[in-house]
Amino acid sequence: MMRTKPDIRYISEEELGLFLKENGESAFRLKQIKEWLWKKGAVCFNEMTNLSVVLREKLTTAFTFQNLTISQELQSCDGTVKFVFTLHDNRKIEGVLIPSPDRVTTCLSSQVGCPLGCQFCATGTMGFTRNLHFTEIWDQFNVMNRKALEYYGKEITNIVYMGMGEPLLNYDNVMMSIQLLSTESGKGMSSSRITLSTVGITKGIRQLADDGFKAGLAISLHSADEEIRKRIMPVTKTNSLVELQNVLRYFVEKTGKRITFEYIMLHGINDSLDDAEKLARYCKSFPVKINIIEYNSTDSFFKGSPQKTVDTFVRFLESRNLIVNIRKSKGQDIRAACGQLVKRVQEFKDSKVQ
Ligand code: SAH
Ligand code: SF4
Repeated sequence: MMRTKPDIRYISEEELGLFLKENGESAFRLKQIKEWLWKKGAVCFNEMTNLSVVLREKLTTAFTFQNLTISQELQSCDGTVKFVFTLHDNRKIEGVLIPSPDRVTTCLSSQVGCPLGCQFCATGTMGFTRNLHFTEIWDQFNVMNRKALEYYGKEITNIVYMGMGEPLLNYDNVMMSIQLLSTESGKGMSSSRITLSTVGITKGIRQLADDGFKAGLAISLHSADEEIRKRIMPVTKTNSLVELQNVLRYFVEKTGKRITFEYIMLHGINDSLDDAEKLARYCKSFPVKINIIEYNSTDSFFKGSPQKTVDTFVRFLESRNLIVNIRKSKGQDIRAACGQLVKRVQEFKDSKVQ
């Protein structure tokens, strides 16, 4: 039986070094190959033009590139582009490019689906299939970086881990991908331009603090009331708000960083003045910035809060000297919120089967 060739990016440096030695190649080829893989983001051996044709052939015989492929690409009227990627095992994930005058932000997925079932989130209603390997996370970046050049004439400047899945439930792969994106021998992006968003997995946040995490940390808070949060975000049952507060205090002490809280305004659920008061109190323990997020309508029963309610909520927080940003939802016409597109593709397929 023919052995399937491994993806060259899965191979450790030691193994690749050994392969080169066994094939009579000089050791400096290793550095060149690594540069092609990570810094230059090659997607096939033919792009590695400073390697001899013979070596490229040897590499092609031994290894492969399991690149993810774009199966859908949708551009919004605001310039946001959403991609559905197909992985080597035919699973689907999503990635997004969001342009603004001074930057191009990409949103990366960390899992196929998500096990946490937040009520307002399209990914949450899909269930969990598997973790992404760090090369699959890297590959989303790589493919979209090429697309960013095509669409906007510039490379990606900022990365957020806000696509499908919970990054802290796939800790090692997510950390490895951040490492590749931020080290000099990798893509060399500044870690201050990378943000990891978590629903608040306390064990993972402690680990980040202990591992000297250098990128930004965003917490999807969405309610500072234990009972409400339990209802809309079941993860709260095992990661309570008090535990979250304690671990965030620890994180801030260890890293000296300011945390970002994300807060989707859900009409009649978490948008009263009482909710704002609770949020303000919750924020007292550490330096935070609050991003108020417009709800991107999914098929759930939630509705976004009216503008007047949002304004009152924000004014209250500002009166408590909190830093608040209002984030307008991008790409609504193409359903750019987490998980929405894959869900629509699945629904489309389901309806075809019926
Ligand atoms: N699991 C992580 C990261 C992925 S979700 C987390 O929850 O933080 C990224 C962000 O999108 C989260 O803040 C999530 O709450 C938000 N989100 C999910 N569904 C949304 C929707 N329909 N409209 C607006 N934001 C949404
Ligand atoms: Fe998972 Fe984040 Fe969606 Fe919650 S909001 S279901 S944690 S992806």
